Amino acid sequence: MYSVLLPSRERLVTYLGDLDLLDRQQLLNGEGLWRQLAKTRLLSSLCQAHDYRPGTSVHGMDASSGRLSVFHGLRWAAVGDAALSFDPLSSQGIATALYCGQHCAQAVHAALQGDLRHYQAMPSY
Ligand SMILES: Cc1cc2nc3c(=O)[nH]c(=O)nc-3n(C[C@H](O)[C@H](O)[C@H](O)COP(=O)(O)OP(=O)(O)OC[C@H]3O[C@@H](n4cnc5c(N)ncnc54)[C@H](O)[C@@H]3O)c2cc1C
Repeated sequence: MYSVLLPSRERLVTYLGDLDLLDRQQLLNGEGLWRQLAKTRLLSSLCQAHDYRPGTSVHGMDASSGRLSVFHGLRWAAVGDAALSFDPLSSQGIATALYCGQHCAQAVHAALQGDLRHYQAMPSY
């Protein structure tokens, strides 16, 4: 489980799992997520201490890795999550976004003298 305090002082709780191993319907009914939270040691005591209760409805979405097949076109280039995104459990997003930004900056610099074609040579994951 992942949690972060939002600027609104609400707490966002995320459950990451493998679709083959979890009961999606049960998790999405609200109480299911709350039951999963109760099984955690640190997060559940944090929520109890601050009296957090389920607020808005629970949303489920696919968080698997993905990438564009083309990273640039006429007057545009995709960088970071816009170019390729990762399974959240891999913790690859920030490092790759930084690498991607640097790589794109070099490509743009090169493009000012030539073209952007070599930006397509991004690593594949
Ligand atoms: C809950 C969660 C936990 C994560 N945990 C980790 C982790 O532990 N380790 C890790 O490596 N990665 C983690 N990631 C992934 C990581 O946050 C992203 O991969 C990374 O932030 C991507 O950086 P980015 O610069 O491509 O995009 P972003 O960080 O999303 O930055 C894009 C920026 O562009 C702005 N923007 C969007 N549209 C416009 C527009 N039209 N005009 C102007 N600005 C615009 C947005 O407001 C945003 O500030 C996590 C992601 C989430 C959602």
